Amino acid sequence: MNYHSTRNHTLTADAAKAVLQGLAPDGGLYITDRYDGFDWQGTLRLDTLGMAKSILSALLPEIQNMDELVERAYRGRFETDELTPTVRVGDKYVLELFRGPTSAFKDVALSMLPQLITASKAQEAVSDEILILTATSGDTGKAALSGFRDVEGTKIIVFYPDAGVSAVQKAQMVTQEGKNVCVCAVRGNFDDTQTGVKKIFAAGVPGDCGVRLSSANSINIGRLAPQVVYYFKAYADLLREGRIALGDKVDYVVPTGNFGDILAGYLAKRMGLPVGTLVCASNQNDVLTDFLKTGTYDRRRPFYRTISPSMDILVSSNLERLLYLLCEDCDEVAAYMRKLNEDGCYTVSQALLEKLHAEFSYGCCGDEETKRTIGRIWSEQHYLMDTHTAVAWRVAEDHKSENPVVVLSTASAYKFPAAVLSALGETVSNDEFEVMHRLHEVTGVPIPKALAELKNKQALHTDVIDREQMQSYVLSKIEAWK
Ligand SMILES: *Cc1c(COP(=O)(O)O)cnc(C)c1O
Repeated sequence: MNYHSTRNHTLTADAAKAVLQGLAPDGGLYITDRYDGFDWQGTLRLDTLGMAKSILSALLPEIQNMDELVERAYRGRFETDELTPTVRVGDKYVLELFRGPTSAFKDVALSMLPQLITASKAQEAVSDEILILTATSGDTGKAALSGFRDVEGTKIIVFYPDAGVSAVQKAQMVTQEGKNVCVCAVRGNFDDTQTGVKKIFAAGVPGDCGVRLSSANSINIGRLAPQVVYYFKAYADLLREGRIALGDKVDYVVPTGNFGDILAGYLAKRMGLPVGTLVCASNQNDVLTDFLKTGTYDRRRPFYRTISPSMDILVSSNLERLLYLLCEDCDEVAAYMRKLNEDGCYTVSQALLEKLHAEFSYGCCGDEETKRTIGRIWSEQHYLMDTHTAVAWRVAEDHKSENPVVVLSTASAYKFPAAVLSALGETVSNDEFEVMHRLHEVTGVPIPKALAELKNKQALHTDVIDREQMQSYVLSKIEAWK
């Protein structure tokens, strides 16, 4: 029983149960700080899939046959079995996390999660179908649909904010094929959508409906664990290149929304990887910048739609896990979360703030500067980056450090072609697919095949609802699937 709720030590679960449940019963998140028998140095000598096997076995020890699950999830599914290449750009490194089937970093986790869930389901002898409910700011939805499509014993419903995703992201989702998939737009922004999904989890579904809810959002530990792997992979790449010696520290700059990606970096550090500073990069929605600076988390602020929509988030769920790991006091975490819920803000203790400052740095970057960065790096380095990566790159430029710096690149530029093309100083038409091809003409960078093919695909999912209707929508789908 390694896992327990961030808000209550006595609500425990083994890894299989934690993966199946998603959220702990009290609304907390499952967390562990035990990685029994994990050999971080030995792990660095393995290839990427070997690292995944080693790390996931340590993080999720009760899930059996991990080697086979990893093979099934990844072998042949990415552009390369290296999964996430590290590329040198100027004086920094870019860790390319977007070489998977849907061209966003979420593929790394969401290729693996269906394997973890179906294995846990079999192990726990659960006969109910698992219904994955997901709120998406754009990329999780498609990656989850692709991962769960036609996976035996599972169904998936994806909710996305109707005006909060790019045309390409939307086209990726509404054209999704598969017997067990459903996609629905919700009027509102991502936080509204995520809150709606959390409410459905809190209310639950009737016990006799033959369906159990689970989550593909990074509140699920099975979604977070696979992300730890690429921090090791990047470190191993720098070792192999001779850029560092074993034990040297490396800083990672992470374009952050729900705080899942960067938290995985912190888990890598707790597992032994010599991580220096983790730099949290935000866009104009800079709630995390303010929090890391002052210790006050205040979500009572305007919400901005930016050109890096996957980071347009004011309530970063995984921060709760970090708070727990730093203070190791469930009551303290529960009190912060209660305050956030009731007042919309909380302030952490001075002791906790000092610990935060020892591990993390921060920075933010608005849309105009993001675009200027994309244009500048293209002209200076001939490297094409997407809007989210550009936010992180810009923040990395202001990060002063002796350590090598790895910037995490979370999406292909072709997922946000309009913003990227205009950043290169080109005029942009209203047709995002035309823009995609224009971007290819201008840069010569290949368009990922699945994105190029989208244009000819038919929209299969056209539902649009209000957020108050989300719960009844789910229940009606469960009925219809019977
Ligand atoms: C989801 C996402 C992020 C943010 O990751 P979090 O784990 O939510 O912090 C950044 N960039 C892209 C492209 C994403 O899809």
